[in-house]
Order: sequence, then structure tokens, then C-alpha cells
Amino acid sequence: MHKKLVKFNTGIVHYYFDAEIKYLGQLVDQTNTVLITDENVFSLHQKIFKNWNTIVLKPGEAYKIQQTVDSVVQQLIELKADRTTTLIGIGGGVITDITGYVASIYMRGISFAFVPTTILALVDASIGGKNGVDVGVYKNMIGVIRQPSFILYDLSFLKTLPQQEWKNGFAEIIKHACIKDAAMFKKLEKQNLLFYQKNPLELSALIKRNVLLKTKIVQKDEFEKSGRKLLNFGHTIGHAIENLYTMPHGEAISIGMVYATNIAEKVLKIKNAGKVSNLLQQYELPTTLKVDRNNVFDVLKMDKKKSKDSIDFILLEKIGSAVIHRISFTQLKNYI
Ligand code: ADP
Ligand code: ZN
Repeated sequence: MHKKLVKFNTGIVHYYFDAEIKYLGQLVDQTNTVLITDENVFSLHQKIFKNWNTIVLKPGEAYKIQQTVDSVVQQLIELKADRTTTLIGIGGGVITDITGYVASIYMRGISFAFVPTTILALVDASIGGKNGVDVGVYKNMIGVIRQPSFILYDLSFLKTLPQQEWKNGFAEIIKHACIKDAAMFKKLEKQNLLFYQKNPLELSALIKRNVLLKTKIVQKDEFEKSGRKLLNFGHTIGHAIENLYTMPHGEAISIGMVYATNIAEKVLKIKNAGKVSNLLQQYELPTTLKVDRNNVFDVLKMDKKKSKDSIDFILLEKIGSAVIHRISFTQLKNYI
């Protein structure tokens, strides 16, 4: 196991890389801990939950809502959880987001930790302290920034991860490569999904590289005043189409990244859309979608990152380097 202590403004997080879930008993007091997971992870990995207080939620983004939060709070009260209890989210991004959020409001805040079990949660959702739930079509409309006390990385969970979820996670990995890591982009170009599924050491190294890349961005700008915004590459249009067309997050942001690179070609007069879209296709992600422009626009206008008549877009200057660019809605309408 490789332990790393990471300092954020809002707290210190211990990362336990190359760890195993069985260490959990050494990290927390089993009698005063509640595990939160979803039905899929619970039924595929039942042994792990034996002898632990566990709350099992329905799987999927559709349940990342206030109603689920209320039901978890109710169950915590029934389990007599108090201010000294630790919540541990074991699952994908939906589970880590809900766990962090509930832990932040239950009795005005109790400690929490994550065991991410999807690629997306490993490299993205579990890092950086953003926790919350969706409201209607608006993603992550309510939430907090608060750090878990630790993140435990046990990649053996990935043995049961469906192919679709691998693709979703690689969309975020490709995003990281696009905005910050040209060398990783090149490396990814030489491989494919199957390579990483068959080579645990390569996968582990890739995940660690992505965890540290995102961590560094968040450390420099935890409250998303500048640099952290770059992580929204592909997400502005991505989130809009994800909710309008109920697509998996990875597919939606894959299309969002292609839209954003096309816009960058027009605004910055550069050429890199081809490379980005080829890499996405290589990892079995979609790059086109027929969208209803007006519907997409209505949702964009409610985006958290917008101001009155313009919106911040993340554009690639070149592979491995992104910039924040303010675009007016009038301009944008011409570009889409
Ligand atoms: P995210 O993609 O944000 O991580 P979810 O938390 O919704 O999103 O997880 C995606 C799906 O994968 C859910 O249906 C969840 O139950 C399932 N899942 C999570 N981890 C595993 C795993 N290790 N094996 C099998 N299915 C999993
Ligand atoms: Zn994302």
C-alpha cells in the first residue's frame, strides 16, 4: 500500500493507493461506521459488507436527489448514528456524492470517506470535495465542498464493472489528458480499453496519474475561481445534453468535448478537433449527436457557470493546454 497525505484548504485527505478493502477495519471503528452503497455493488460484493452497518441505495443518477438524502438521514437516525459516526461511500460517483453530502449536513457535519468502485469515481468524482445532488434537470444544483478523511483505492472492484462504465470513466481520463497532460494523451493514443483492462499495473499507474493531476488542480483552486474551471472541459454542453437526452455522463461529455473543440477551432483559429475526436472513438465513445439547439440553449442558460448573457467555455489551445474563454449566448448560437 502506498499512502499519501494531501492538504486542501477545507481539510486533509489520506489517499491509500494499491490498498485492499479489508484494511477498512484498521482505519475506522467498525461499530461506529455506516457504509453507504448501491444495490449493484452490494449484491456483487456481498462479503465485504458482512458485519458492517450498511445502507443500500437504488443505483443510478436518477436517485442522486434530495429524496434519497432524506431517506439516508432517516436510516442514520434509526441506526443511532451520532456526531462521532463515520460514513463511508462504497460505489460510483453517485454514491460518493450522496455520502459526502449527507455527511456534511447530518448533525451539522460528521466525518466521511470513500472507496470508489468505478473508473469515473476513482479518477474524478471522489477527488476534490464536491458533494451534492441534482434538482430536476439541473446537475449538482445543491451541495457543498467538503473533503473526505480518506480515499481507499482497491481496484479489484473493477472486475465487475460493466463495459459501459469503463467507457464513461475513460471520457474523464481523456478530458484530463486534453487539458493538462499531452504526454498522457500520446500514451492513450497508443493503447485502447482492452489494454488497460488486461494490464492491472498499467491501469493502476494511469489511475494514480489522473488522481494526482486532478488533486493538483483542486489544491491550487479549491473554490473554482480559475484553474479548477478547466475540469469543466466538455461539461457545459455535456451536462445539458446528458439531462435532455438522459445519456450516460461519459458519452455526454465525450460529445461535449467534441463540440468544445469545434468551437475552439472557430474562436482560436486552431486545429485539434480531429485528434480529440479520434481518441474518443478509440475508447469507444460517441462523438456526434443530433441535438435540438433551442432545448440545449434553454438548459445552458441555467448553467451554474453562466452570467447574464455569456458563459465561460473551456477551450483547448492545443492538446494538453486549455484556457477559459467567455462566450456570449449570441455568439454561441452561431457556433452550435
Ligand atoms: P459514476 O459513473 O458517476 O461512477 P454511478 O455511481 O451511478 O456513477 O455508477 C455507475 C453504475 O455502475 C451504477 O449502476 C453502479 O451501481 C455500478 N457500479 C459501480 N461500481 C461497480 C462495480 N465495481 N461493479 C459493478 N457495477 C458497479
Ligand atoms: Zn464529468
